[in-house]
Amino acid sequence: MRFIATLIMTMCWLLASSARAEAQLPPVVMELLKVSEHVYYVQGAPGTATQNHGFISNAAAIVTEEGVILFDTLGSPALAQLLLQKLQKITDKPVKKVIISHYHADHIYGLQVFKDQGAEIIAPAGAEEYINSDNAEALLASRRQDLAPWVNAETRLVKPDRYVEADEEIKLGGVTLKLIYNGKAHSDGDQSVLVEPDGVLLIGDLIFEGRIPYVGDANTKVWLERLQAMAAGKLNAMVPGHGPMSKNPQEVIQTTAKYIAFLREKMGKAVENMTPFEETYDATDWGDFIHLPAFDEANRRNAYQVYLSMEQESMSSPATSR
Ligand SMILES: [Zn+2]
Repeated sequence: MRFIATLIMTMCWLLASSARAEAQLPPVVMELLKVSEHVYYVQGAPGTATQNHGFISNAAAIVTEEGVILFDTLGSPALAQLLLQKLQKITDKPVKKVIISHYHADHIYGLQVFKDQGAEIIAPAGAEEYINSDNAEALLASRRQDLAPWVNAETRLVKPDRYVEADEEIKLGGVTLKLIYNGKAHSDGDQSVLVEPDGVLLIGDLIFEGRIPYVGDANTKVWLERLQAMAAGKLNAMVPGHGPMSKNPQEVIQTTAKYIAFLREKMGKAVENMTPFEETYDATDWGDFIHLPAFDEANRRNAYQVYLSMEQESMSSPATSR
């Protein structure tokens, strides 16, 4: 009798704790989509950082016979846990490495889930500027409020095990990845991954699918060079940091590259001729880009940022080197 009572109590406890574990996962629709033989990804919803329980960015997984390499880790440990559950349905191999496209909150708050399981964390050089900034801690504090309970007192900023500052090759389970170091392009440090046997490019936030990008404090010279080099390769698909994957990567990359090249050409000429920004902006024919989403919100600021940065470039290097 006592045995049966103990058994019932144990079963109740097990049921309750598994219900608790379920309750700790955010109520979002997350589907692990197959891109190619080795590559899968989950797609965040469009929206701002605190919408959709923080699920606004993508993460990709390269699944091999010896283990998984992740590219980005989503915007909370709870989302990362959900991603891990999805992965465990398609492979029994552990996550061996995590490659971070860039250190921004929406891509890194899930890191601790994989770090705690022994994965090696690889970040682009430049990310240390974010990690060591007061800003990073302040943002984490505010996300603990805005994204509670998914980002909470246990959520921590995980530092990488190593930084990458040049292109390199990574091999796992017979799959070769080319890690492409982009330098200070979209953020303080960015990197992309080319999954060579599949011809799939995981580009991170260098491409904002189908819309005008926010240039911010990006180095447009480096950004443009990187995009042009990537567009020249043979690609079957591309997964951006946000938004849907593309089966026509060259075209998507070219659109962003063309826009940045146009900004640099027009603003560069204005700087050379010492034409004021306002005058240049109003005289420029934006016809090729005006129809793109986010043009009204982003274009004027982008143009101004490029104007200012090209003034800097022209002062720090001889005019002929441009
Ligand atoms: Zn992002």
